[in-house]
Amino acid sequence: MIDLKGVNKYYQNEEDTLHVLQNIDLYIDRGEMVAIMGPSGSGKSTLINLLGFIDTSFEGQYLFEGESFTQWSDNAISKIRNQMVGFVFQNFSLIENYTVFENVELPLLYNGYHFHQTKEEVMEVLTMVGLKDKAEKYPKQLSGGQQQRVAIARAVITSPKFIIADEPTGALDSHTSEEIMRLFAELNQKDHATIILVTHDPENISHCTRLIQIRDGKIMEDRELKE
Ligand code: ADP
Repeated sequence: MIDLKGVNKYYQNEEDTLHVLQNIDLYIDRGEMVAIMGPSGSGKSTLINLLGFIDTSFEGQYLFEGESFTQWSDNAISKIRNQMVGFVFQNFSLIENYTVFENVELPLLYNGYHFHQTKEEVMEVLTMVGLKDKAEKYPKQLSGGQQQRVAIARAVITSPKFIIADEPTGALDSHTSEEIMRLFAELNQKDHATIILVTHDPENISHCTRLIQIRDGKIMEDRELKE
């Protein structure tokens, strides 16, 4: 599904050039749950920005289902991103003055739904993440773990081709982290969701099917994980 070939990425500042991704070859198939680990500054964010069609200026080739989108206009790329990728962030990134329902509904409205067509689907994903009775609450009225569940519901409601989760448990205690990781694992196993997860927490790895270690912009290790 995701196929990077010979990808290099540079950042230029006044004095020098930083080679942040170095000759990356990476294939990720449908249904994988991939953990990306590496020290701070190793290139993880750069890599997922590229995978998630946020950054399209790099050397080399990114084929998604056999097609390259890098030359497309910003507008077209935004549409592709909305359709293909669901994002989950460390800080949840919910809209505070929207209810849980409205937060989860928003991607559907962006994708052309009318507000009277959304209820069933919103309630379905809220039920899936265990929050159907919280639809009318505001993010501030929920715990961190519940807010992350809302963010996951928002990420999956458009049935994206894959989910990028950037340190999704970074702001949560270990018990809640485990619950969130179980939810991701369930999405992966039951719905065959493809999940790419950046994490610092070795505990999260046990739920993943594959581990990629990056260091100084290079893939140092890439291995399957057994159940
Ligand atoms: P990680 O997510 O693993 O912490 P990043 O991908 O954020 O690493 O960063 C990789 C390297 O690229 C770091 O040295 C960082 O300072 C540098 N970098 C990231 N973004 C930029 C940018 N917009 N301009 C210049 N350098 C950047």
